[in-house]
Amino acid sequence: MGMPPTPARSSADVARAVTRAYERYGRKADEWRRTYEARGGRVYCGAGCAACCNMPIRVSLAEALVTAAALTPAQARGMAEHAAAVIANAQSAGGDDEYVHRHRTEVGFCPLLDRATGACTAYAARPTRCRDTFSAFPAVYCAVGTLETMTPRQLAQYHRDVARTPGTDGEWHFIAPLEHLSEPIWTAAARAMQDAWGVQVWGDYWVLTTLARDDAFMAAVEAGRPRDAWAVARRRRLAHPTVLELG
Ligand code: SF4
Ligand code: SF4
Repeated sequence: MGMPPTPARSSADVARAVTRAYERYGRKADEWRRTYEARGGRVYCGAGCAACCNMPIRVSLAEALVTAAALTPAQARGMAEHAAAVIANAQSAGGDDEYVHRHRTEVGFCPLLDRATGACTAYAARPTRCRDTFSAFPAVYCAVGTLETMTPRQLAQYHRDVARTPGTDGEWHFIAPLEHLSEPIWTAAARAMQDAWGVQVWGDYWVLTTLARDDAFMAAVEAGRPRDAWAVARRRRLAHPTVLELG
């Protein structure tokens, strides 16, 4: 039995609530994966595999605090530059599909990725989406361009192959239960933000990680003043409804 959750009162408590939820998820995911593999299932993810590291990532500010605290000044600069590219994409993309495609092809890989080795340089502080994305197919299926350039016949075959692969949702090749197991992390983050700040903040990973290192932004959030926080984000040119939700 776990301890009953103590309400978060500070930003440090909020970050702690997330890291505890990460640990619980890690244990449950490892256990699920062991059982899956013992039954013949295959998880293709592993060290150095990073074709998914150019996907857009949605986080809570609670998770962004954890990453933000782990960054070197050089990494933080890289995140801020990436956040600026994310905003430019949000301002000009014609819809969700274009936003995602351009994120992957033009905004590009996460600056925390070591392109030479495929390693995440902030592995212990990576957000939920980077922890719960697992593939039952080889990485080429995760890479941008693979599914998009299939013929209708190839795509139909892909969906048939997915449908007979245990662990998928029957439509896409990612492992659905390992994603569902992360739901308590989202819940813990939402509750901790609400308890500590009376405000929830969600949005893009690179934008929120950059804002989490901005004292004025965090002071406004901690005071429960979302409009003031939005004004700080605007001054930083990091306010756009696609990538920053305050409320
Ligand atoms: S999700 Fe795909 S690209 Fe990402 S680590 Fe797993 S196999 Fe590699
Ligand atoms: S935080 Fe790490 S795992 Fe996540 S996208 Fe960036 S490099 Fe990849």
